[in-house]
Amino acid sequence: AQVLINGEIVTRIDAKVDIEDRAYQFGDGIYEVIRVYNGICYQLEEHIQRLERSAKEIRLSLPFSAEEFTQQLQELVKGNQLQEGIIYTQVTRGVAPRYHGFPSDDVKPQFVAYTKDLPRPTAFMEHGVKAVLLEDVRWLRCDIKSLNLLGNVLAKQKANDEGGFEAIQHRGDIVTEGSSSNVFLVQEGILYTHPASSLILNGITRVKVLELCEKLELIVKEQEFTVKDLLDADEVFITSTTSEVMPITQIDDQPVGPGIPGPLTVKLQQEFVKGF
Ligand code: PMP
Repeated sequence: AQVLINGEIVTRIDAKVDIEDRAYQFGDGIYEVIRVYNGICYQLEEHIQRLERSAKEIRLSLPFSAEEFTQQLQELVKGNQLQEGIIYTQVTRGVAPRYHGFPSDDVKPQFVAYTKDLPRPTAFMEHGVKAVLLEDVRWLRCDIKSLNLLGNVLAKQKANDEGGFEAIQHRGDIVTEGSSSNVFLVQEGILYTHPASSLILNGITRVKVLELCEKLELIVKEQEFTVKDLLDADEVFITSTTSEVMPITQIDDQPVGPGIPGPLTVKLQQEFVKGF
């Protein structure tokens, strides 16, 4: 397989990273995961814009322009003949002797990208999946798509240990987001999702679903809701680049509504696939 490293396409085994890369030592960098459908990068522009925002928030200057990223990532997809899968891409603050403060300006950010075949999770999307609840113990800048993912890692593992697909996090009573997804609920025909604050990552799929709601004339409120609201909801679903619109049919040991994907969730799934 081909991979991208600092603007060059090389074969996988020729791509080498340094043990003093700041991502390796501090998680000091940012990333994106981009869906590829039928050989085409889906919402690439939105992902690159979010990468630029994350970079700005951590005071990292990106080594390439949006146009250069676009061109390189498309070339990578083509080179690997990827039809259905993802691109993973990250930028780190570079390689320097270990010291917490930023390295000097001559240290160049390191950019890598690779692709992976990944089918759409159609069986899960059809039947729904289980989620587990846990306290959100992450830092207060979850709006940055940073490589520091230990909180998310531990959350997802708790879900997996309990036979769940995703961990839904809450700060006190307020539901924030999944370990790698955003959370929506439906109550009496109205959709709710956490506002795009510093406590969640503003998912590209989240924003897409908000647009689809508007198109379908569904009422959606970007408003905080509680764990109790979640457990009492008629429908719950999560959204992410890899999971699209994924019905949650069980939370811990309790079914969501009747325990099958709800009508608005299914409607949004159907509308979502029209977009690619
Ligand atoms: N929140 C978190 C913490 C995530 O890691 C992700 C996945 N990138 C999302 C939300 C969903 O974002 P997107 O729809 O852009 O994939």
